[in-house]
Amino acid sequence: MKKLLIAALLTAVACSSTPREGTQICAHRGFWKCQDVPNWENSIASLKMAQDYGFWGSEFDVHLTADDIVVVHHDDDKDGLRIADNTYEALAATPLPNGEILPTIDSYLDQGAKSKCVLVLEFKPGETPERREKMVHICFDALNSRGLWSPDRVIFISFDLEICKLIAAEAPEFTNQFLSGNISPEGLNEMGINGLDYHYSVFYDHPEWVEEAHALGMNVNVWTVDSRQDMEYMAALGVDCITTNEPLLLKEVLESR
Ligand code: MG
Repeated sequence: MKKLLIAALLTAVACSSTPREGTQICAHRGFWKCQDVPNWENSIASLKMAQDYGFWGSEFDVHLTADDIVVVHHDDDKDGLRIADNTYEALAATPLPNGEILPTIDSYLDQGAKSKCVLVLEFKPGETPERREKMVHICFDALNSRGLWSPDRVIFISFDLEICKLIAAEAPEFTNQFLSGNISPEGLNEMGINGLDYHYSVFYDHPEWVEEAHALGMNVNVWTVDSRQDMEYMAALGVDCITTNEPLLLKEVLESR
């Protein structure tokens, strides 16, 4: 316990990520289920819908193409083409199902800068240290050039522990959350990683990790929670944010508490 308290004090000094009031709503890959417009996950339309509906945050995924363009997309491939092995021109040759051109980090952040909705930027794993660093630095520059370089405007998440370590070293003031679910809050804290964003099943197994993380000054998010029952359980645990494909249902659940 003494070790935890000392670590919490150190973290409180080192970490200036914004504390949150209650559980917040993060739209997973944007509010892509909203059909007010032609929509698709990780499209600019899905981000705009998350912004227009006033959700706290909107999550999106990025990869690096073979010609060093950062694109917003979930899977490793698009239309059968592996993103890491293809140029942006080849990948963007066919539009998204909603008619949009494959977003780059630049076109996506142009929309992101238009509202206060927090951008939850997921770095997909990099294959080499060089490509990892290149992807992260391109995104850092793109955020900077749009006035988005602020812990209030963006948080970083990744399944790639090396990327989380890189962010901890280069942008320690930002919330930086590991996604894989296999490291305790104390273990992450010892690596300088100041947050966790785990699958909800992890918190059924380790409900104590929410309190442990908070004692260390860390932010806790949970993905991807789409049922009312799981939303109620996670909110009762006191997580800082719930990432969901059903943000309107989550809004209703949180408002009824
Ligand atoms: Mg993601």
